[in-house]
Amino acid sequence: RLIAPQTASTQEDAIERALRPKRLDDYIGQQKIREQLEIFISAARKRTEALDHVLLFGPPGLGKTTLAHIVAAEMGVNLRQTSGPVLERAGDLAALLTNLEPHDVLFIDEIHRLSPVVEEILYPALEDFQIDIMIGEGPAARSVKLDLPPFTLVGATTRAGMLTNPLRDRFGIVSRLEFYTPDELGTIVSRSSGLLNVDIDDAGALEIARRARGTPRIANRLLRRVRDYAEVRADGHISAAVADAALSMLDVDALGLDLMDRKLLGAVLEKFGGGPVGLDNLAAAIGESTDTIEDVLEPYLIQQGYLQRTPRGRIATHAIWQHFGLTPPGREDL
Ligand code: ADP
Repeated sequence: RLIAPQTASTQEDAIERALRPKRLDDYIGQQKIREQLEIFISAARKRTEALDHVLLFGPPGLGKTTLAHIVAAEMGVNLRQTSGPVLERAGDLAALLTNLEPHDVLFIDEIHRLSPVVEEILYPALEDFQIDIMIGEGPAARSVKLDLPPFTLVGATTRAGMLTNPLRDRFGIVSRLEFYTPDELGTIVSRSSGLLNVDIDDAGALEIARRARGTPRIANRLLRRVRDYAEVRADGHISAAVADAALSMLDVDALGLDLMDRKLLGAVLEKFGGGPVGLDNLAAAIGESTDTIEDVLEPYLIQQGYLQRTPRGRIATHAIWQHFGLTPPGREDL
């Protein structure tokens, strides 16, 4: 899927790393979080303390990993990176924690997928910078307390609702990342174009930005595909017209919706009469998991007002009936 917010390959990972802003000043948009972090980071630095633990939540591709790296850079410390599903045993986390240096940042992606035993180890580590580990087995086993250097945990999750309360309560700074406006994404596309030596004008950048589902990762990916098109089908320059032609060829429509979005919305409209339809039924109808619908597909569609989430199920809004050129049942007068 072209506009899937997850990274698709290691090659893409490398490009993403190259495009990643390194300092807070280069991080575009997310005004509120930027302002908060600026204050908290300079206060922590002044007191020569570790920054409080930070929880970042929001859909994939909005810049959580980037922010974690920026926090470490601004604090002038190392970053260690891992993710919830990778930390299978308590010992995995203990090994990471005991290797930290004072004030280091430990970044745990998908923190809602930590196993309960690993989470147990994390509580005292976050609160008192101590861990209890078991040494030996059977009757000779005993627990020892180890002191850790003060560190900062940056946790990222697509769904804050899936975190346990005790874990969530241990974060001093909790921030939700928002979808980016077309103007902000336009700035990101222009910045990336500069780094990748792409010939693009402002209107071209804005056309890509408008159709990138509010997500920097998608904007950067579309930019690279549009560049290919411009080099082969045009003279290499990306104007609004070239961007539009390329994106249409890539099946990204004028609202920035791709085939998967249209499949989901099409199912709500045509198979379920516009809804309400329950998540499980919808997932079965389009052959996707409920997680993908909840984490990846639906947040943008809801934010844009194309889909509503109600206690009885998902409902298509009037705007999306119109976009599909269909009339809601019982509203033939429209
Ligand atoms: P997440 O961890 O939320 O999935 P990432 O931090 O990996 O997202 O961001 C994906 C890509 O989007 C990065 O490679 C980065 O280049 C770009 N990006 C994200 N946020 C910004 C931003 N605020 N300004 C500029 N580029 C950004």
